Amino acid sequence: MNINRCRNCGTKFLVARSVCPKCGKEDFEHVPARSGIVLESVELIATPDPYPDRYYLVLLDVDDVKVFCRSQEKLREGSQADIQDDELGPTCRKA
Ligand SMILES: [Zn+2]
Repeated sequence: MNINRCRNCGTKFLVARSVCPKCGKEDFEHVPARSGIVLESVELIATPDPYPDRYYLVLLDVDDVKVFCRSQEKLREGSQADIQDDELGPTCRKA
């Protein structure tokens, strides 16, 4: 998973944009997101294919950017989690 960072003003955001939401420039760099702090961890018991039938949807704070990832275990709020990418998107686990 990569975070987008504006080279002009340093604003960081997850979802790709054509212009910076703060300064309007169009020059970005991609910063790898490898770990974050758990904000929420919620178990999903109804999921779309091809995802597992149950997993935890985890909201992480990655350098002040909020991102989602999947976890097979509940992660404690405030704890550190490592992020990895698989074919279905980002996953995370206890650091
Ligand atoms: Zn900017």
